[in-house]
Amino acid sequence: AHLDRIAAVDGDVHAFLNVDAEGALDAARTIDERRAGGADLPTLAGVPIAVKDVVATKGQPTTAGSKILQGWIPPYDATLVSRLRAVGMPILGKTNMDEFAMGSSTEHSAYGPTRNPWDLDRIPGGSGGGSAAAVAAFEAPLAIGTDTGGSIRQPASVTGTVGTKPTYGGVSRYGLIALASSLDQAGPCTRSVLDAALLHEVIGGHDPLDSTSIDAPVPPVVEAARRGEVQGMRVGIIKEISADGFAPQVRARFEESVKLLEEAGAEIVEVSCPSFEKGLAAYYLILPSEASSNLAKFDAMRYGLRVPPNGVDSPSAEQVMAASRDAGFGDEVKRRIILGTYALSSGYYDAYYGQAQKVRTLIARDFAAAFEKADVLVTPTAPTVAFKMGEKLDDPMAMYLNDVATIPANLAGIPGMSIPNGLAEDGLPSGFQILAPATKDERLYEVGAALE
Ligand code: GLN
Repeated sequence: AHLDRIAAVDGDVHAFLNVDAEGALDAARTIDERRAGGADLPTLAGVPIAVKDVVATKGQPTTAGSKILQGWIPPYDATLVSRLRAVGMPILGKTNMDEFAMGSSTEHSAYGPTRNPWDLDRIPGGSGGGSAAAVAAFEAPLAIGTDTGGSIRQPASVTGTVGTKPTYGGVSRYGLIALASSLDQAGPCTRSVLDAALLHEVIGGHDPLDSTSIDAPVPPVVEAARRGEVQGMRVGIIKEISADGFAPQVRARFEESVKLLEEAGAEIVEVSCPSFEKGLAAYYLILPSEASSNLAKFDAMRYGLRVPPNGVDSPSAEQVMAASRDAGFGDEVKRRIILGTYALSSGYYDAYYGQAQKVRTLIARDFAAAFEKADVLVTPTAPTVAFKMGEKLDDPMAMYLNDVATIPANLAGIPGMSIPNGLAEDGLPSGFQILAPATKDERLYEVGAALE
């Protein structure tokens, strides 16, 4: 049914870069046979899933939305993919994304943009717009995203879906093509909070192949999603994020949801996180710095695209690298490599990267203080509903501002979730973000389920 749905709508939506119909049907048949044989199967056995194209899938092309990886077939599965396969989840295919997960609209994909199923003239968010759109358009019941500064939560917000960024270290990064290693985290994109919890439980948990993986059991997310109880819970509104910068219709929906939580017995408190306004600036130094280093491995020798330099008879290795990187990377990727290389260079390191790391510490302290007063914090996920395609493409700063409410969680390593917040005045979805202290991911599900 999902393959049929993809065939019917993906020509318009373009959520997928690659569909593996045969592989998915094979996996589904195996589950059918095991079920017919009376096997006791895991809850999600046989439930198909779409995977963001930044996650390595053995034998299936993985491009990270970039020309530089066109034709690359990973020889191994990411840990989270092995876990999906182990419980018998057929993988439908790989979803579109901004190149190397840099962006908030999926317009920076080298393979053309994804469109928002609610209005095909609008963006589906980014960088994981393909995963969110696939779920919103009923092409897949579940999808995997990755969130470095909001790329699971912001697409969820503008497509009316649920997106969770687990605690940093909660889901293995082994097999993710790294954007910024200290910020990257994979998580579920779904249509309900319980679905997200079930998927979180499958992909989460310790992995010796990722040295930053938390060595503890997955938080009790499924229990929390089934309970959805906020009686007596302290819900914090962040003064600095709730103040301005958000469209009036987004704010109005947010305030209604806060009221619902209060009616359900939560205690609403105001907290202050004064360093948040510096979060965006710090992120856009830390991320390019880490990305410029991570992307150095795309040197035309080990993976993907190799382009000989024009008009050079016996090019040096360096000339081949330069020509290939020039041809293989898009403008946004080049912009960030240049920014990051600059911020890390001798003489500038202390002024830029070093300062940004200090801001990061301040943000973590702000959260620690806020979580003394509140069990969870809530904000609108993104400043606006889905904007029109092309609207912010030539203005990187306007694009970056979409992440103002999602970035602090990545900088501090704490978990966050975006749930649908009803439709705004113009009939488009907006998102409600819930944040919890590190390793307390179950609180997201408790609150999310209470509002659902
Ligand atoms: N929009 C943010 C950026 O461009 C978020 C990216 C992400 O989470 N992968 O960096």
